[in-house]
Amino acid sequence: MSLSPRLRTGLNKRPTSVRTPLTMAYLIPPEQLGSLLNGHPPYRSDQLRQWLYEHPVLEAADMTNLPGEVRADLSETLWPFVVDVEQTGDAGRTRKWLFRCDKDASIEAVLMGYPKRVTLCLSSQAGCAMGCTFCATGQFGFDRQLDPGEIVAQVAYAQAHLRRYPLPDSPDRLSNIVFMGMGEPLANYANVREALRRMIEVMHIGARHITVSTVGITPGIRKLADEPWQVGLALSLHAADDELRETLVPINRRYPIRDLVDACAYYFEKKGRRVSIEWTMMEGTNDTPEQAAKLATIARELRAHVNVINLNPTPLSVERPSDTLTVEDFIADLRSYGVAATFRETRGQDIDAACGQLRVLRSRGGGTGLSQ
Ligand code: SF4
Repeated sequence: MSLSPRLRTGLNKRPTSVRTPLTMAYLIPPEQLGSLLNGHPPYRSDQLRQWLYEHPVLEAADMTNLPGEVRADLSETLWPFVVDVEQTGDAGRTRKWLFRCDKDASIEAVLMGYPKRVTLCLSSQAGCAMGCTFCATGQFGFDRQLDPGEIVAQVAYAQAHLRRYPLPDSPDRLSNIVFMGMGEPLANYANVREALRRMIEVMHIGARHITVSTVGITPGIRKLADEPWQVGLALSLHAADDELRETLVPINRRYPIRDLVDACAYYFEKKGRRVSIEWTMMEGTNDTPEQAAKLATIARELRAHVNVINLNPTPLSVERPSDTLTVEDFIADLRSYGVAATFRETRGQDIDAACGQLRVLRSRGGGTGLSQ
């Protein structure tokens, strides 16, 4: 795959200073874009909003119905990040970016192509304070909250990139968005909410095609349940009793499993949408028949589907992925209890595509494996 012009710029000429964020188009609420267009008729802000949110393009020069001087002004301030790294893996079906928002914040987004859909996994925070032991982002700590525009710009950039450089044997439009990249979305609630509003009400992405994943901030789950959108909720559970979960997901000490299950039941009640449970298999830790039995009890109570994924090991983690036979037995156990369970393919192992891995390697001076 050829590299986008922006990527080439990002790689060859890394900026030494960071622009004032408020001048960047995506950091201004879409309803206030007129403030960027002083002296222009009001309909120009509608045109700009359409380019940014409905038909995003990689470069302002391609916003063909805007005057040349506006395009020139926007050319340096279109995206609230530069592309530090772009990688492709899985024979071109997975594309990953490391975006640098400013000197303190780098975030990751991953595009995954399938025959009938393309899914974007995006970041909601730069780093993460949750400290999950098996996660590269958690091992590296928290940098800062992402602005709504920094979240929504990941969607726009991926859409624009996909149009220009489609993934093989996949649609050239985004089908699904999952908040499963860096960060805990419900720990950045107000900004994630505003990003969701822009995606749903301004970009016109169906709420049912968006999934917010959480390790279990129960007040956030209840707040999201009270929002007007039919957004999906994925609970990253990973352990089915408090004793084990506290060792893997420290926030469990504050919000134990019983509270979580009650909050998820409330979500189901309000939305009429079943919560899904994410389960990352870790050898000898949570891949036992006992954990399968406890997980089945929770899944049955919530009528939840369980997505099983094998650990994409991180450089700093002591946890290892489970072997294939153990994964198969675990899923068979769940099914024997009447629980719907699916094994999800781990994407991008050849390019360190699990959450936060690229940033860890970058920070430690490791190779990026760029597919240039
Ligand atoms: S798994 Fe999610 S919540 Fe846990 S540390 Fe990683 S990014 Fe944060």
